[in-house]
Amino acid sequence: AQEKYASLRDKPALTACGETIALHMNAGLMADLPSLENSGADGVGLFRTELQFLLRNAVPKRSELAALYSRVMDAAGGRRVAFRTLDIGSDKVMPYMKRPDEPNPAMGWRAVRVGLDKPGVMRMQLQALIRAANGRPLSVMFPFVSQASEFDSARAQLLREIDREAALGHVLPASLEIGAMLETPSLAYAARRFFETADFISIGGNDLKQFFFAADRENELVRRRYDTLSISFLTFIEEIVKRCADTGTALSFCGEDAGRPLDALALAATGLRTLSMRPASIGPVKSMLRRADLDVVRDIIERARAEGVESTRPALLKYVSSFDD
Ligand code: PEP
Ligand code: MG
Repeated sequence: AQEKYASLRDKPALTACGETIALHMNAGLMADLPSLENSGADGVGLFRTELQFLLRNAVPKRSELAALYSRVMDAAGGRRVAFRTLDIGSDKVMPYMKRPDEPNPAMGWRAVRVGLDKPGVMRMQLQALIRAANGRPLSVMFPFVSQASEFDSARAQLLREIDREAALGHVLPASLEIGAMLETPSLAYAARRFFETADFISIGGNDLKQFFFAADRENELVRRRYDTLSISFLTFIEEIVKRCADTGTALSFCGEDAGRPLDALALAATGLRTLSMRPASIGPVKSMLRRADLDVVRDIIERARAEGVESTRPALLKYVSSFDD
């Protein structure tokens, strides 16, 4: 199987019906970067910056972060890297940062909420990213944005740092893309203005699914209970795709489900054109997409919807079982 995927490395994820899906990889460590070449990923759709913070016993220095981010961009060799600002709280806890005791940290003071309320670390991180880009294009996305005003504030913070860096005489990024991660259902229903302001939106499917079904992603008792391939979840994804299409906002999906071939197939059928996943999933997902006709997948979804079937999984499994190996 490894050889089969290796032979696909330089081929596009072009479906049998002629639609091309961009496959990006998720990363968080320097050690992940060689996978960009090996997997044939089109870019890094999610760089989880909190891993650097979790590995140390103190907040890293701005110069250390800038050097690291610069090496990440070097390793990407001009391919896009979407740097996600610090997503701490919830399941990612830094022992050296004092945190309030929270009854429900996943729905608590985490991610961009911390970055907006206590901007020190986020500002330092944004400065490091601008310095790392040093004349190259820069993509930044903010995690766990729940409403438009949070995105506006985070975006304004980044633009302020750009102005400050310019005033200090630093070279600015050649271009700047500012995006939001859509991880709470509320953001899907933000005003049109939000979709117009965001340069791109990345669906954080792990968190989005947790909040859509109210099922803790960390809790073994419930985390596999609800299906990504259910009509309810796919209909919700279709709604997000539609809202982004209306404003021409670039949309991607970067939760773990994007790396499951059958789930990737359904996500592509809803209209998603960029999926980001762990590097080892790129081969299997590409192999699946190259054999699939998304019109057939869309028919299967429509039929399940019309018939009131809860999940499209059985019908999709049946469809892909006709693919030969
Ligand atoms: C997600 O929530 O889907 C996501 C990509 O971010 P993380 O898994 O780091 O929360
Ligand atoms: Mg998340």
